[in-house]
Amino acid sequence: MTNRVELSRREWLLGSSTLAAGLIGGMPALAKAPMLGTQAPYWYRFKLGEFEATVVSDGILPLGKPEDNFIGLSKEEMARQLTSNFLPMDNAVLEQNALILNTGNHLVLFDTGMGSLDIFGPTTGKLLANMKQAGIDPKDIDAVVMSHAHIDHLGGNVADNGAINFPNAQFYITQADHDFWTDYSKVPSDFKVFADTANKNLKPVRDRIHFIKDGREVLPGVHAMLAPGHTVGHTIFMIESAGKQLCYIGDLAHHPVLLLEKPLTEFKYDTDPKQSAQTRVKNLAMFAEKRIPILAYHFAWPGIGHVVKQGDGFRYLPAPMEMNLTRKTG
Ligand SMILES: [Zn+2]
Repeated sequence: MTNRVELSRREWLLGSSTLAAGLIGGMPALAKAPMLGTQAPYWYRFKLGEFEATVVSDGILPLGKPEDNFIGLSKEEMARQLTSNFLPMDNAVLEQNALILNTGNHLVLFDTGMGSLDIFGPTTGKLLANMKQAGIDPKDIDAVVMSHAHIDHLGGNVADNGAINFPNAQFYITQADHDFWTDYSKVPSDFKVFADTANKNLKPVRDRIHFIKDGREVLPGVHAMLAPGHTVGHTIFMIESAGKQLCYIGDLAHHPVLLLEKPLTEFKYDTDPKQSAQTRVKNLAMFAEKRIPILAYHFAWPGIGHVVKQGDGFRYLPAPMEMNLTRKTG
């Protein structure tokens, strides 16, 4: 230890004298590179059989204190789960991973983010900007498929001036969610902003809405599976092309740890939290057993991975990002 300190001091002295010599000799000082403060693009592209898929972010959604949002875990159990997964204790930060699927015949957008609504701060509502970065023109979207009618899944349908953000698209949602969230007599009063947002984003496209039917194909290669509880008509989508599968699970689970390790834990924004938990367990067990990859709207970017059984719950294993689109996989 003593030797090491002496060596460091010696190196430091050598370094200073070299610098001094440089200045004396008229050499320019070495420039340090500036901090860039920029980030990689917030979209991610991958192949799924014959389809091309792009995850596009609407930005992060900071929910706030985990204990205010995830209900039924003891304080100790929540602390154990968060710390053992190296997650912060003071804020549950969700991603918003929207999917754009090019099937060769259709360009399909799953969920449209929060739009201009800023009740979770300024980080949401970035879908259109990130689509532009990804080289996708909103005019080219043929279909907007909504997993459910919550603010962070349809808030980007319609701009504040009433213009439809995807002017050439047909819109898909369950009738159950459409009818519930546009009806002020059904929506609880503390969820009024949800009804406002549903009306703002569904009414202007009403004549283009197609109601999703459980178990039926929404578009070729995309099957709807009713997964109720989070909302009355919450739906997940099994996507299949050339033998490859991916399930877009919407809000089947909002947190990759707190709703998986003890999957009967309840979530503040569930319409029927007990039914939601049962739906979650049933589908996660199916994904684990059949080894079906998932894309989770709110999991850590870009939200693609697998689930396996662990203890009396599940564990989420993020998939490596595939950065070479020309490489043949599987
Ligand atoms: Zn959501």
